[in-house]
Amino acid sequence: MGRFYSIRFRLSAYFLAIILAVMIIISFFLYSNLERYYMSNYTDGMERSAYLAADFVAGQLRGQVDSVRLSNLAENMSRQSQARVIFTDSQGLVVGDSLRVGGLLNRNLEQEDLAKALQGEISYSITYSETVDHDIIQMAVPVTDSEGVISGAVFLSASLEEVYLILYAIRRYLFLATLLAMAVVGGGSVFLARRFTGPLETLTQATKKMAEGNLDQHIDFSSGDEIGRLAEQFNIMARKLNYYTSNLKKFAADVAHEVRTPLTTMTLLTKALKEHEMEVEQRKDFINDLDSELERLIALVNDLLELSRLEKTTIEFEDVDLKLFLSDAIGEYQYRYARAGLELLDNLKDQSLVVRAAPFQLRQVVSNLLDNAYNYTPAGGTVTVSLDQEGNEAIITVEDSGCGIPKEDLDYIFERFFRVERARSREGGGTGLGLAIVKEIIAKHGGRVWVESEETRGSRFMVALPLSMDPNVSKS
Ligand code: ADP
Repeated sequence: MGRFYSIRFRLSAYFLAIILAVMIIISFFLYSNLERYYMSNYTDGMERSAYLAADFVAGQLRGQVDSVRLSNLAENMSRQSQARVIFTDSQGLVVGDSLRVGGLLNRNLEQEDLAKALQGEISYSITYSETVDHDIIQMAVPVTDSEGVISGAVFLSASLEEVYLILYAIRRYLFLATLLAMAVVGGGSVFLARRFTGPLETLTQATKKMAEGNLDQHIDFSSGDEIGRLAEQFNIMARKLNYYTSNLKKFAADVAHEVRTPLTTMTLLTKALKEHEMEVEQRKDFINDLDSELERLIALVNDLLELSRLEKTTIEFEDVDLKLFLSDAIGEYQYRYARAGLELLDNLKDQSLVVRAAPFQLRQVVSNLLDNAYNYTPAGGTVTVSLDQEGNEAIITVEDSGCGIPKEDLDYIFERFFRVERARSREGGGTGLGLAIVKEIIAKHGGRVWVESEETRGSRFMVALPLSMDPNVSKS
């Protein structure tokens, strides 16, 4: 069933229908013109013969008529004109007939064309003759003597078989030409349809394979037309889908791996607590370990939730004065830093830089950077937060005097779950998602984030955000 709905089938069917219609119209006009031409040619020839005969017998049809002579004459003329020739007198009495045996000699010929000829008109008609089982043409012309009196008529009758044979041959040729045209157009349209629908078929197969889960698809088809562009877009889509899916798979595997570690530790700890007698102090240590593993899990789940929220939500931007915003954040971290023996410095200068941002997400960025500086800077260290303007961007810098990041890891620290080394961290290492979240949020704000760091000397994280375009806001 589907076959008949295919473009290939329909295109061929339409082409064939069109060419059939064109050929029928052409054949109709050509044939009717040729038929008219051959018929008029034939009747003209017959008319000439009839008049020739009439001239010949003029003056011989009155008074004493010599039927034998006239019949001989009719026979001679019949041979030349391929028609039966009959002479009648002015009353319609046959006085000469080329048909010698079974002819009409001495009988009255009652025939319409002859009646008209005896009135002085030339006339012809076509009728079916049972005798010859064919259409015949009958023609009669008046015979006028030297005084202009109608003395009789010449009556000719001939078979149309010859003309019909020619017309039949023409019809056959036209039919063959139509068949040939249909074969050529049919073949051509199948070829063209295949050329056009071939790539579509390939596309369908590739899409089917993708739907079955085989995402690694590529179509080799280069052409500037619509189908070529479709194939190109398909390849781009397949590449992206493949990339996103493998990323997603990797992410899911990473998440499972990250969750498994604290869960395994927790299982071991609970088993030990359940199965072994232990001192109160030791029990407390075990419970503390359990607690911190639980906290790690909760932090991980929170970060994962944050990441998935980032992918889903469309952010509501508003104008944020970065100086005020950063001062608030620094204020909230002061106590925690001081308790760990760290100095948190504010280098915000007295300037107002306004950016379009989602405050809640921007807060997340600053918190993640300050948490990291806190985590990776030993006691006695310093962390400085600065705010500057460069061109039409605001640059937030969080600089610490901590352990720094090895050169070879710098390219990876913004990737999900990447951690340099757990042992270096103040609180036993985070989730490895903090900087990935920072990067995602900043990208959503149309900004950039990067890092400069030297091991043992410290790190400098920088965030660039486009300044607000609202002239009223930037002036204030
Ligand atoms: P985590 O939750 O482990 O801190 P992040 O994505 O925030 O994850 O950071 C990724 C890794 O980058 C960290 O594990 C750490 O090794 C390194 N890192 C991030 N910030 C700093 C910093 N200020 N100093 C040194 N290393 C850092």
